[in-house]
Amino acid sequence: MRYKSTRGQVRDISFKQAVLMGLATDGGLLLPEKIPVLSVAELDSLAGLRYPQLAYAIISRFVGDDIPAADLRQLIERSYASFDHPEVTPVVKKDGLYILELFHGPTLAFKDVALQLLGNLFEYLLKERGEKMNILGATSGDTGSAAIAGVRGKDNINIFILHPHGRVSPIQALQMTTVTDPNVFNLAIDGTFDDGQRIVKEIFNDLAFKQRYALGAINSINWARVLAQVVYYFYAWSRIAAHRDDASVDFAVPTGNFGDIFAGYIARRMGLPIHKLVLATNENNILSRFVASGDYSVGRVVETLSPSMDIQIASNFERYLYYLLDEDAELLQQQMGEFSATGRLQFTTELLERVRDDFATLTVDTEQTLATIRQFHRQTGYVLDPHTAVGVKAGSTFRQGERPMICLATAHPAKFADAVIRATGSAPDRPDSLCEIENKPQRCQRIAADTTEIKDYLAKHALQ
Ligand SMILES: *Cc1c(COP(=O)(O)O)cnc(C)c1O
Repeated sequence: MRYKSTRGQVRDISFKQAVLMGLATDGGLLLPEKIPVLSVAELDSLAGLRYPQLAYAIISRFVGDDIPAADLRQLIERSYASFDHPEVTPVVKKDGLYILELFHGPTLAFKDVALQLLGNLFEYLLKERGEKMNILGATSGDTGSAAIAGVRGKDNINIFILHPHGRVSPIQALQMTTVTDPNVFNLAIDGTFDDGQRIVKEIFNDLAFKQRYALGAINSINWARVLAQVVYYFYAWSRIAAHRDDASVDFAVPTGNFGDIFAGYIARRMGLPIHKLVLATNENNILSRFVASGDYSVGRVVETLSPSMDIQIASNFERYLYYLLDEDAELLQQQMGEFSATGRLQFTTELLERVRDDFATLTVDTEQTLATIRQFHRQTGYVLDPHTAVGVKAGSTFRQGERPMICLATAHPAKFADAVIRATGSAPDRPDSLCEIENKPQRCQRIAADTTEIKDYLAKHALQ
């Protein structure tokens, strides 16, 4: 399998090169040159596979012979052995909806599904090349802890994660700072999340520094992250709809950066019978407005109960736009140029019809989120986290007849206990991994929100 960039200047690179490149060197995003399509018989043969087996059946089609089969199988087995449920991503049925629980990984959010695999892939590829990598990133919460959990204790990788001191939830901070492996460096900056992002960007823009310290990124644009997420769409389908006369299903996806739902779009193009992908957003609803009316225009970021979806510029959107423009890299460049100049894009009725063939959409505000958590809990006894609640509200709105509606549960409710308490009056049960977390030893360096100081710190602690 070969890969190409949405901007057209990078093409014919291997899977391994795509994983190590992350963002394409021409500024675009990497995609496979051809999306493999599964026959009905191949789809049906997925039913009954264990999660890692099914993951291998999907992922191997995108890797080709770039990694030997036995090695790839082992990488995948190891990545999902860290999950605390034998099914890895189990599906439960509640109140007529199917809930796909993606929060059984080490940090209790769906990002573990991708980052456990990416950590192992990085380690494998670096060893093969005899290279080292220093991962640098800024986080407002979920991504940082999942990235740290993905690479802790791995050979040839150090990870440096900036988080704004005192501005991430206590649980999220502890999920990072209680990881005391010597290759993990938590930096609590005296500043905001935006300061952290700006500093990381400035450091990456210093190309000599970036090269000297072999800096790598972990953001959601890495193709391997999307690929790992494609798997659970197939898995959920294989558990509830395979072998039915009408095997079609709908998925409802709480959306921020468009990574998770884009994985569903890839699954659909691979032949998985997905009728609609329901794109659910909170008040930060640029994507919802795009699907509803063709208006893709940036607004101000507002804080909500679902902070991991408080995003306006969705970094994975470019991948979808590329397909919408029939893989015309030149046209895409033009559109992205227009978007960065004006902050908006307008779509024709004809294109919009195609968008609406792929997606349905709903914006769910704070009150509706709380009401959904409350009602669902009352009716079923099941506790939703606020991100999942946004998806469940949208999913129940668009559920049609007998077609299964599968709602992606993206975080464990215990991670967002305050919102749950507001909605239901009681705290959600804590899973084992959070018990005693307040009493564990911590390792974290407080540091000024200053690019030079952080560069000095990196230079001192980077693997060379
Ligand atoms: C990251 C995240 C999302 C949004 O996923 P995207 O891929 O960015 O659209 C939703 N819920 C939770 C809990 C998350 O951590």
